[in-house]
Order: sequence, then structure tokens, then C-alpha cells
Amino acid sequence: MKLLTFKVRSSEKVGILMENGKILDLAGAYTILFEHQAPGLFHDLKAIIESQAKGLELAKLVETLSMKEIKANSPLGERLVGEAVFSPENVTLNPPVKRPGKILCMAVNYWSHAREMNVEPPESPYLFIKLASTLVGHKSSIVIPRGAEKPDHEVELAVVIGGRGKYIERGKAMDYVFGYTILNDVTLRERQAPLKKGARLGLRWLPAKNFDTSAPLGPLIVTADEIGDPHNLRLQLRVNGELRQDGRTSDMIFKIPEIIEAASEGLTLEPGDIIATGTPSGVGAATGKFLKQGDIIEAWIENIGFLENTVTYEV
Ligand code: MG
Repeated sequence: MKLLTFKVRSSEKVGILMENGKILDLAGAYTILFEHQAPGLFHDLKAIIESQAKGLELAKLVETLSMKEIKANSPLGERLVGEAVFSPENVTLNPPVKRPGKILCMAVNYWSHAREMNVEPPESPYLFIKLASTLVGHKSSIVIPRGAEKPDHEVELAVVIGGRGKYIERGKAMDYVFGYTILNDVTLRERQAPLKKGARLGLRWLPAKNFDTSAPLGPLIVTADEIGDPHNLRLQLRVNGELRQDGRTSDMIFKIPEIIEAASEGLTLEPGDIIATGTPSGVGAATGKFLKQGDIIEAWIENIGFLENTVTYEV
């Protein structure tokens, strides 16, 4: 199932991307089909994730019944089309999870990226954080803060956690995955360097990786059952149509089970948490091509789709 959070006429809704490419407003469709107020979880995608199978089953039922009525051109079908079906281009796609409890990100997790940066890969998963307030959705602007010089892009497969767990063993880790989406780990390269050469304090992850709009996420979550093999997906990033990054998730140094095991070592993972799994080669730090005013960035992952954002420099 492909789930998303969208805004239409200033109200936020949870939707399913249907086979016909249209978005079904889950709460709206439920109310039309059952003449009853929709359950609360249909108003927040994080609540569907928390509900585990229950929310997904109910969503599937609403989708199946809606498609049946729509295909039959029944009076209910007509109401659904008029009130609960939207074209993606007519809505605003927000980050699928509005306020995840945490966003954990992997540093140097593709062999190709380690090579281009000329760094030794870490011996165990190396995680840093992005803050939930930095999230933006599909087609939103990435606003480069004043004084920044080397803004960079990083297309990443993002895992959406579905279960609550601590000390999760790698053999059970995939049971905690709800689905997958795309995160562009936008980075201010010059702010990542240590303050002083030779200083004991290392790379500055916080200012390099966290500014308002530095975490484009979405446009949708593909549930784990529909992604195929998450370790064999192609991922690409284009800037103004030019291919800058092109890799496969099979190139990850640490696979998703090991990442989840490491992330949950003493820290409880919760439904809706996001773990970005690192980026393949082709980043500006290696090519010297940084993001400019007006650049259009398209991050693409096989079986998920495109996450598009435009670069604007703050004045
Ligand atoms: Mg990254």
C-alpha cells in the first residue's frame, strides 16, 4: 500500500495512492461508505502506523470498497469521486509522517560514497540525527540559510519504523519496519568541518545537517510488503535533469537489520521513527557541484517514486 499525508483547502488528510494514480482521502471515503464518522487514526498517518495491522486492514477495506463503487459508477462511486478522490497535482503533499519522534541518519553507508570521499568506512553503524522540525514535503522549497556556501544533496532510502522496540536483534529487525520512503539529507558542507584544524571535537553534524527545510521527506510511504527487496533498489538524484547520483541499495555497507540493531541499542524505537540509510556516490562534496538558487532536485527510488524540491537562498 502507498500511504501519504496531503493538504487540500487547508485541511490535512491521510490518503492512499490508488492504482489509477489518484489519491483517496481515507477519512472522507470512510464517511461516505459507512455514513459514519471515520476513526481517529484515519486523520494521522502516524496513528495508522501505531495501530499495526488494524489500521492497514481498515485502509485496505476502504480502498477496495471505494474502487468497487467507483468502477461501477454507482451513486456512492460518484460521491467518492466528487468528494474523496484527488489528483496528486491538485494537492500539497506533506511529509508522510508529520512529527516523527526521531530521525536517525547513517553517515558513510555506501561503499561508493566512502570511496568518493576517500574515507575509511566506520567499523559499526555511525548514526547522527536530524530534527523533526527540519522536515518538508514534496515540492516544498529547500531554503538555504544565510551565509551558507556549499549546500549539498544526498538521496537516501528512509526506513519507517512500525513497532516499538529496544535492543532489537538483527534477526528480528525487519519485523519492526513499517515501510519505506525517500529522504534528501540536505547538508551544508562547509559547516560540517571541525571548527579548528586538529581540534579534538570532530565533525559538526548538528549545524551541517539541521536547518529549517533540510529534510525533504516523502512523497509517500510504501509498505514493507510492497517494496520488494529493500537491499536491491536503484536510487538516483537529478539536479535540473542532470544525473548526479545513481546507485543501488545493495551497495550499503551496513544493511537495514544491522542499522536497526545499532540504533535500538539503549534507545527505544517507536512507530513513525525514521531511519535514513545513507547515500551513494555523486554528492557535491566529491564533484564540487553544490546547490544553486532555483535548482530543481529530483530524488528517485525504485518502487517508491520521485521526491522533488526547489532550492531557494534565504535573503
Ligand atoms: Mg546522509
